[in-house]
Amino acid sequence: MTVITRFAPSPTGFLHIGGARTALFNFLFAKRHNGKFLLRVEDTDRKRSTPEAVAAILEGMSWLGLEASEAPIFQFERSKRHVEVANEMIASGKAFRCFITPDELQARRELGERKRKQAKEDGLSDTARQALLKEADEHLKPFRSPHRDEPPIENEERPFTVRLRAPDTGTMTIQDEVQGEISIQSDEIDDLILLRADGTPTYMLAVVVDDHDMGVTHIIRGDDHLRNAFRQTPIYQAMNWDVPIWAHLPMIHGDDGAKLSKRHGALGVEAYRDMGYLPEGLLNYLLRLGWSHGDRELFTMHEAASVFDLKGINKAPSRIDFDKMAAINAHHIQSCDNERLLELLVPFLNEGKPLSATQFERVKLALPGMKDRGSTLVDLAEAFNFLLIERPLALNKKARKALKGEGLDRLSALSDVVSDLSEWTSDAIELAIADFCKNHELSMGQVGPPLRAALTGNLPAPDLHLVAAWLGKDETLARIKEQLAEKTGDNV
Ligand code: GLU
Repeated sequence: MTVITRFAPSPTGFLHIGGARTALFNFLFAKRHNGKFLLRVEDTDRKRSTPEAVAAILEGMSWLGLEASEAPIFQFERSKRHVEVANEMIASGKAFRCFITPDELQARRELGERKRKQAKEDGLSDTARQALLKEADEHLKPFRSPHRDEPPIENEERPFTVRLRAPDTGTMTIQDEVQGEISIQSDEIDDLILLRADGTPTYMLAVVVDDHDMGVTHIIRGDDHLRNAFRQTPIYQAMNWDVPIWAHLPMIHGDDGAKLSKRHGALGVEAYRDMGYLPEGLLNYLLRLGWSHGDRELFTMHEAASVFDLKGINKAPSRIDFDKMAAINAHHIQSCDNERLLELLVPFLNEGKPLSATQFERVKLALPGMKDRGSTLVDLAEAFNFLLIERPLALNKKARKALKGEGLDRLSALSDVVSDLSEWTSDAIELAIADFCKNHELSMGQVGPPLRAALTGNLPAPDLHLVAAWLGKDETLARIKEQLAEKTGDNV
């Protein structure tokens, strides 16, 4: 059997990170079994499914690199097929035409609620209260239509919906790969609508028909759809189709344990991209959020695809942990190929302003030595500021203090030494500074602060021989000269 999984998002305007995790699990499970991972856009809600909302899903998937094995399927385009199946179900007696109107259903519900309220009123005998509650339940329990056993007549003129004839009695059991065996009473399932009065198919019908026609073998999705599995199973059975294997994933909760919502921070994957997460960093985090393989934290997608299994999915909801997300991302930044990292980093540098050719070259030179200086591209980009600032450098108080009196004299003497260097490498510069300290009987603590202040304005930066090497000889000497000139009043 070829394993076929699918991700079936309803476009909402962005790819929710919960959805991204569902997509990832489906993707990895298919990869693990050399199967197929399919994408189905559930765009039957025509108001919400704008071209932009659909594009946001496709872009999110593509940014994450969760490429489907085939072109996406659009559910709305398949409505004729959905209607065809509903009609087959009517023909076989598994579905029926129902003439109850939405207003009548509403009245039924309201009556039930009224009875329930009345049962709470004071002064009722126990018997009267019980009777009212019983009546309320009758009206509020899952709807079973009075028309369920009427055979269809030809040329029906009354408006109707098409409903599933839900299982009569007994229990229904599903075997879920994550949640285990779950049973409910059949009468908890209503005669659910398959075709609305305007003839359009409902979501519940469309999902089953599409999953069947796409050959989906495993349905891996959020456990907010667990109840739907009980409503969808009778549709499979009615059509004599194989019921797929279910795996319902526990929800992602916020760091406070409440259900993940906007107030917990950004929810769409594009927001994480803008916060400077690498797709592989976010994926690795989402993989670990709700799935484990021993105590291993770090995975490339390739590694994950070779070990991913449904057994490793946790049964309890997972809590989002932004510190862990950042730590995992930091690891992926460090193991990212330099050329690709440079490309990803550039848009974040220099507060989004374009880089000059010289600035770009400096960043490129420094990048391999700077990769551990940020856990997101935003942090990492900030760590490059010392290379990108332009003269005249803004000095903070500490820098101004370091560039006074003796400090400045030492900087001046050091500048003569380094300007004589014929080879401009970090090793040569390190050696020159060390020699300078030795020859003048000075410690690095006496020489470093004025040099650091002059080269970086005291912005966060690594060791000074690295800073000087990355700035290049001309810029290093120019930054030093600028400070020396300040003292003598020269104009540079
Ligand atoms: N379209 C549904 C959603 O976005 C998913 C349906 C399914 O996976 O069966 O929640």
